[in-house]
Amino acid sequence: QAKEGGRNTYRFYTDALTQSAREKLALEAALRLALERQEFVLFYQPLVRLSDREITGVEALLRWRHPELGVLPPEKFIPLAEETGLIVSIGEWVIQEACGQMRSWLDRGLELSTLAINLSPVQFRHRGLVDSIERAVLETGVPPGVIELEVTETALMDSIGLIEQRIARLKALGVRLAIDDFGTGYSSLSYLRRFNINKLKIAHSFVSNIEEGEINQPLVSTIVTLARSLNLQVMAEGVERDSQLGYLSKLGCDFGQGYLFSHPLPPEELDRLIQGG
Ligand code: C2E
Ligand code: MG
Ligand code: MG
Ligand code: MG
Repeated sequence: QAKEGGRNTYRFYTDALTQSAREKLALEAALRLALERQEFVLFYQPLVRLSDREITGVEALLRWRHPELGVLPPEKFIPLAEETGLIVSIGEWVIQEACGQMRSWLDRGLELSTLAINLSPVQFRHRGLVDSIERAVLETGVPPGVIELEVTETALMDSIGLIEQRIARLKALGVRLAIDDFGTGYSSLSYLRRFNINKLKIAHSFVSNIEEGEINQPLVSTIVTLARSLNLQVMAEGVERDSQLGYLSKLGCDFGQGYLFSHPLPPEELDRLIQGG
């Protein structure tokens, strides 16, 4: 293809490749140093109980304060961190940091019952996962029952033996499990029971189309019914409008999260939101 375009096109093509390869290498090198330089930060987004609109928990969301590029969202660096395996040590930092923050909120009397932490499939597969959670629990003194690990359906598609063993150890520690972006992947319904899942989080791509007569109404209502009949909690992600909230409340969805309630915030701002409200 490139050759047919003649010599100039061909050169343009290779230069472009080199350019993006070079950017990727630079990003990888910076990512390796980011932990040492303490460039990662966690933001926290409120998790809201719909029956009384109380904030009952938070989800920790990772950001990278890159020295030149500014604050980068996870989608800009997590794929590379997964590819290089760096996600394992970054993830250990996230667990430790989030548990420490939760401990200090609980010590100060904030009534939060859930600390949600995202896990990539790479972390979930890693043999050190359970130990790193156990260590964070011991070092920070956070009650393990408040920790809710969010995994995607993809993470549960590994060999069944590995998953069962991993989950049994996590459950023995006392942590809870939620399926993130539920409905966007492939999960066998029997897994929900077999793996002792506690909560389904409805992907925000579904929640964005549930207003009057919109296409995702039946889908979301089916997920809520499914959760109810399996005795799982259910939470809607990406709630941005009152009309969405209205529909979700009518369905009996337990929890919601989204810009309608609050954007993800640095810990000091979340303090203010909870104590001021
Ligand atoms: P997620 O776990 O599904 O998190 C929800 C994402 O939706 C967050 O994006 C959040 O900022 C965004 N969001 C919240 N409310 C709304 C809303 O009302 N409208 C819209 N359009 N978006 C909303 P964020 O922070 O960019 O994170 C993206 C993804 O990166 C997360 O999706 C999660 O899969 C991953 N991630 C975040 N933190 C970590 C982490 O510490 N470790 C790992 N492995 N993955 C993480
Ligand atoms: Mg999540
Ligand atoms: Mg999600
Ligand atoms: Mg996700």
